[in-house]
Amino acid sequence: MVTACSVMTAVQATIARARQVLKQTFGYNDFRHSQEAIIGRLLAGEDVLALMPTGGGKSLCYQLPAILLPGVGVVVSPLIALMQDQVNALRQLGVRAACLHSALTADIQRQVEEELVGGHLDLLYVAPERLLSSRTLALLARVKLALLAIDEAHCVVQWGHDFRPEYRQLGRLQEIFPELPRIALTATADVSSREEISTQLGLQGAQVFISSFDRPNIHYAIQSSQNSREALWRFLEQNHPQDAGIVYCLSRRKVEAVAAWLSQRGRLALPYHAGLADTVRQRHHERFLREEGVVIVATIAFGMGIDKPDVRFVAHLNLPRSIEAYYQETGRAGRDGAPADAWMCFQLQDVITLRQMLAAGEGSETFKCQSRQRLEAMLGLCEMHACRRQRMLAYFDETLTAACGNCDNCRQPPETWDATEAARMALSCVYRCGQRFGVHYLVSVLRGRHDDRIIANGHHRLSTFAIGQAYSESLWKELFRQLISRAYLDVDLEAYGALRLTEQCRSLLRGEERIVLRQLEKRRKKVIKSTRSSLPLDAGQTVFFDALRELRIELAAQQGMPPYVIFHDATLLDLARKQPRDLAILATVHGIGENKLERYGRLILDRIAAVADRTMAVERDLSL
Ligand code: ADP
Ligand code: ZN
Repeated sequence: MVTACSVMTAVQATIARARQVLKQTFGYNDFRHSQEAIIGRLLAGEDVLALMPTGGGKSLCYQLPAILLPGVGVVVSPLIALMQDQVNALRQLGVRAACLHSALTADIQRQVEEELVGGHLDLLYVAPERLLSSRTLALLARVKLALLAIDEAHCVVQWGHDFRPEYRQLGRLQEIFPELPRIALTATADVSSREEISTQLGLQGAQVFISSFDRPNIHYAIQSSQNSREALWRFLEQNHPQDAGIVYCLSRRKVEAVAAWLSQRGRLALPYHAGLADTVRQRHHERFLREEGVVIVATIAFGMGIDKPDVRFVAHLNLPRSIEAYYQETGRAGRDGAPADAWMCFQLQDVITLRQMLAAGEGSETFKCQSRQRLEAMLGLCEMHACRRQRMLAYFDETLTAACGNCDNCRQPPETWDATEAARMALSCVYRCGQRFGVHYLVSVLRGRHDDRIIANGHHRLSTFAIGQAYSESLWKELFRQLISRAYLDVDLEAYGALRLTEQCRSLLRGEERIVLRQLEKRRKKVIKSTRSSLPLDAGQTVFFDALRELRIELAAQQGMPPYVIFHDATLLDLARKQPRDLAILATVHGIGENKLERYGRLILDRIAAVADRTMAVERDLSL
């Protein structure tokens, strides 16, 4: 008789086995998010729908049970590059993995099929159309299967931007393999996508796991500046002098210009946008993956398929259209869990351009209205003074109870001042000057400059002339910027940037709303520094990190693979901190499982010993 107690112990025993594989094969000490629960379900033969943020660790959820269960785990994946990377990374761990897709030679394909039929594979990655071909189905009918995983399951969503028609056919798998546990995985959070995935894939009965969409290792910082390029340069110099990252710009022209400018200053920066030839785009993408420290300057055309885990920063030089877009784009940073930066510097002009594009664009009034609201929410995120992560997660209906401590506003709470009175003066000045002038002129009137144009217009006699002398010119400019960004003022570009009052400014004029701004001058003097996020290490440890990074490049080059397939940054960081001198300690390092220990253990220890000797020699010389 099976008692509740014996079932419990069976479950516990399975989980204990899973933990063992986690440590031995993957080199990790603990499960993340709901990995353990998901794996438990699959091992018990049940279906799962897993929603986890990018970098959350989705792949482990099906890889680990596929290793544990008898038979081969079949994984559907939409992009050849993604598949190939996963297979390479698994082989590094000593896992028997392969893939089947259209880019393989006939020979290799035959070889994979033989391995499959011979029962020599733990995991097989397949493109969706390939999986449903009669040839593959016939092959699979001959072998024992462990489970079916459908990765990037949002590709099934028809109105989504990653839609893949072949994914719609995958619902058939349920009829073909009714006994097999299935798991669908995605980083897409919204409810309607989730429902469509369930229905299309016949997963209505599956247990759903939704993880927090927080990405605690990403530091968020947003600023505005007239000179965003210089600001970018300072950010890179201070935080990422050698790291790989992405710089997003709105237009192709700006992409080209920024890439050229960064290259001139000595960074390896490559452009990426839809106007470049396919071959050039592919080459740049490839270099980004395979070389260290490449900066890709891109339009949002650089999107899906960025599976590089060690993107250390995502910088925006323009304002994104929505918090959704911003979160998705910045989410490409730090997939490996090591510290990363999401940094943005935007200009007032972005706000004006985006508003105009929305007004002039296609679509129904409702659509335009929603788009406008999305943009306003994005602006709200930019202008706020409290924790940005709390605001973003709240936007996705998730509550973060305490401030995060890892955004610019948390790290360095901005000093603020009540600018309501000054704002009223500014609005009144706009009105009295006839709503025909731009910022520069209005600031001159407020500051009481006797300039020829002002006198010719008779504006030196206005009551608002010189009422703003107490504030500096830059402060007035900042205030006007805020008034425009918060839609109290409209900019008429056809009338040379003349400012006009909007309906909304009534409440400010009536005293029903207040406007609070950051202290400008004080903020300027401080250098806003995030962590040296690629290297939360002291100087001594950094020497080890750099030396191990060199070793990684050598190993990657020997095998013709991207460096991150050999070790992730998180592994290098842990190595640099622990500086292990023997295999036993090396085995405790993050990401060092048995296979990597055996393959690279000696090389790592030798490299560490060499650095330690060098350091000691230098110290000895200095003390003489
Ligand atoms: P996703 O597919 O969800 O974007 P991945 O599966 O690529 O994320 O995992 C992101 C990173 O986290 C990988 O480097 C992976 O090895 C690592 N990872 C996954 N699970 C764990 C864990 N339990 N402990 C430590 N690192 C993990
Ligand atoms: Zn915060």
